[in-house]
Amino acid sequence: MLARDGFEQIYYVPYCAVCDQPIQPPLPSPFVCSNCLSKLPFRMDKEKVSWEEDVPLYATFFYREPMSNMLISMKFSGRTDRARAIGPLLAMTVCRRHLSFDAVIPVPLHKKRLADRGYNQATLLAQIMSDKLSIPVVEDLLIRTVDTSRQSEAHSAVERYQHLRGAFEINESLPVLETLAGRTVLLLDDVLTTGATLAEAAKSLRAAEIKVICFVAATNKDRYSAYGDVLESW
Ligand SMILES: [Zn+2]
Repeated sequence: MLARDGFEQIYYVPYCAVCDQPIQPPLPSPFVCSNCLSKLPFRMDKEKVSWEEDVPLYATFFYREPMSNMLISMKFSGRTDRARAIGPLLAMTVCRRHLSFDAVIPVPLHKKRLADRGYNQATLLAQIMSDKLSIPVVEDLLIRTVDTSRQSEAHSAVERYQHLRGAFEINESLPVLETLAGRTVLLLDDVLTTGATLAEAAKSLRAAEIKVICFVAATNKDRYSAYGDVLESW
């Protein structure tokens, strides 16, 4: 379900997902005009954020304009159409970095938050990547059991980690759990700030013998340590 599908079906006007101006095909990338594509804050040779062997992390973009605005509007203003522009660019990072995995797992929202928003922005991106890469999306294996919507009240990174501790569980009734044991998944989220959410979600998957490659659309971090700096200060 993409918010602008109805609009496109009526008018057949391809538009740029960044500047919203009409564009003429062929496009350099789906739904992004060449002018906007040149302005996107690609991390380029900094796509590999974490060099830890057990929990690598990749990000395609820095969290800067216009990507930050795209991600905010995708999450909070119903601009789900922007996932169609961002998703293929994330898939290109996967190909460039030769990342190998058997499933894409979007970081889940708590069911209450999902009901409020109507969709999970990470799942939208996961579905587009899945289409491009022909690798399945696995939902419902990872479950968010704690509603962390009050997380913004936590001031320090340590407090945010404490709010998230034990926030994810594995649905052990799913047959896919056995399939993925010993295999690798791409754990996908839209934005990484402190890294607390991804680290906690990755921990749950790893406890189920699943290897994890973390991946986010955007972060400004230069270095990320899932089990390093912050967790050590618990
Ligand atoms: Zn544009």
